Amino acid sequence: MKKNIIVQFLILLILVAIFITTISLYNLRTVSIKSSVSNAEAISEVIKNGLDLHIDNPNMDEFLKSISSIKNIKSLWLARSSNINTQFGNLTFKNPKDDIDKKVLRTGITEYKITEALIHTDVRVSVPYKTTTTCIRCHQSKIGETLGVISVVLDVSTLKEIGIKSIYIIFLIVFISVAGIFLLSKKVFNPYLSLYTKLTENINQAKVGKFENIDIPEGLTTEVVQVTEDYNNLITIFKDTSLDIDTKLQGFVGYRDKSTQNTNPLNESKNIIDNLSNLYQFKKQVELDNTKGEIYTRIAQVFENKFNLKNFTFFEIDIKKQKMQKIISVGESLYCHDSIKDNPHLCRAARTKSDVISIDFHESCPYFNKKNKFYYCLNIDIVENLYLIVHFVTDTKEELEEIKNKSLFINRFLKEARPAVEVKLLMQALEESAFKDGLTQLYNRKFLDEHLKKLLPQIKRDKKKIGLLMLDMDHFKAVNDEYGHDVGDKVLKELSKILEENVRESDILVRYGGEEFMVLLIGVDTEENALAIAHKIGAKVRENEIDVYAGTIIKKTVSIGLSMYPDDSNLFDTVIKNADIALYEAKSSGRDKVVRFSKEHKTSVELF
Ligand code: GH3
Ligand code: MG
Ligand code: MG
Repeated sequence: MKKNIIVQFLILLILVAIFITTISLYNLRTVSIKSSVSNAEAISEVIKNGLDLHIDNPNMDEFLKSISSIKNIKSLWLARSSNINTQFGNLTFKNPKDDIDKKVLRTGITEYKITEALIHTDVRVSVPYKTTTTCIRCHQSKIGETLGVISVVLDVSTLKEIGIKSIYIIFLIVFISVAGIFLLSKKVFNPYLSLYTKLTENINQAKVGKFENIDIPEGLTTEVVQVTEDYNNLITIFKDTSLDIDTKLQGFVGYRDKSTQNTNPLNESKNIIDNLSNLYQFKKQVELDNTKGEIYTRIAQVFENKFNLKNFTFFEIDIKKQKMQKIISVGESLYCHDSIKDNPHLCRAARTKSDVISIDFHESCPYFNKKNKFYYCLNIDIVENLYLIVHFVTDTKEELEEIKNKSLFINRFLKEARPAVEVKLLMQALEESAFKDGLTQLYNRKFLDEHLKKLLPQIKRDKKKIGLLMLDMDHFKAVNDEYGHDVGDKVLKELSKILEENVRESDILVRYGGEEFMVLLIGVDTEENALAIAHKIGAKVRENEIDVYAGTIIKKTVSIGLSMYPDDSNLFDTVIKNADIALYEAKSSGRDKVVRFSKEHKTSVELF
């Protein structure tokens, strides 16, 4: 930049020098020609007067010769008009020499001609000689008529030489002035140019977040120094303020985005504010979400749209229940699912409560079974013993690095959503506890009433059956009486465990009363199958040895009544009642039995 300005300035000065020299040259030429012309005119006037004086003198030629010898007169000649020649005899040397002579004789007007060569310049002037009163004494002509022409050729080379010398001097003066001005201006302008360069660099640095003060160069005016100092103060304030904002915002977000390093802190702050605003919006939305599923779907949308993530899965691990549940899956599937679905404690992210990443060690998690893919598992503690694991899969290490760079912000979103998920889980737990029996963790009657509202229309639609088993422990009161209520409770828990182990997950187990249980065999094909299950339960209970205390083992039995929906009745209440009647029948006919309800039972009970 500085060089540019100097070169431009030099070119300008040289142009000015050339211009001044050219103007001077032109003026010199004009002046020398003008002066030569007036010299020639003066000489011709002298000749004219001489001619008048020497009109009767035979030595006229001598007079002309003497004038010709004047310095710088290259040639001088006279030419006579044709009239005079006719009168005094045609003397060839007195004839017009060229067209200029002829023209002057014809027109009576002075003619000029300049002949310029490289070194020599000639100025020719041809002046008419007009008839005077003296002339008409000898010449046959009228006054004012052109008698002849006097032509003088002057050599103006001497003037030109002087001119050329002047040009050297002018050029030298101009050159010295140019050089002088250049050196002087360099000294004067240098500090300004240096300040300009520093300012440009400083502003460029500021654009990428580096705020530095400018060293003020020597030789500037007080005003410019003041402005530069003001600029420095401004930069310092800007630097301190933007760093302060930046640091405080970093604190809010809790991370530094690596991709925006070395940029203007204000730009970075803008990014952070944008992100915070997004986070705030996200948090507000999540709080309004109805279910845990909605929250997870929203997080997945943020991952896809904001973070451009393509392959990820959300799954929950319940360490207490040893359950792994896949929630949302986008893109590539979960390559460790088969290994850990039944053994969730194998999930390294859940076990170590930390992120697991395959950048340095692909084998960080041995259960990820796709060797040519990369993974990143994030762990979030939702509540005690319940973890949300977000599992990302990528094709390249670079993509994984990108996720790693974003992980702090990804985490931030998950953490913002965590309280809302926790609330949903608590609500879910509360709802579940309202519908569950505290001792056995089986459903209670309230749940049955609620659930039947949804279940029965579905069963009717699908034309399926429900086998309803009503169970009652035989002589249970005796356990309480003999071993106390705690042992009684233990026996009830063991019974509920046997029930859980011997029916399908889709079947419904209800603690119906004190030691009365109901099993709803959903979609059972035939009553034979239902009876078989009832017998299996009866057998398992019979075989089960209950360690009551210090090696004392007791065995218990159950009586079971079976009724079929809708075979026995379209009204479920009636089916329950029927199962109860069958149970009563089982009890009254000796206990440890399974009895299928029949109409006869009903009659006998009614009679009873
Ligand atoms: P049966 O063979 O005729 O059924 O005889 P039973 O002794 O089982 O008779 P019954 O059904 O009348 O006895 C029920 C007893 O179960 C009465 C009650 O004290 C006891 N019980 C009910 N709920 C609980 C409970 O939660 N814990 C314990 N330990 N006992 C309970
Ligand atoms: Mg009983
Ligand atoms: Mg009972």
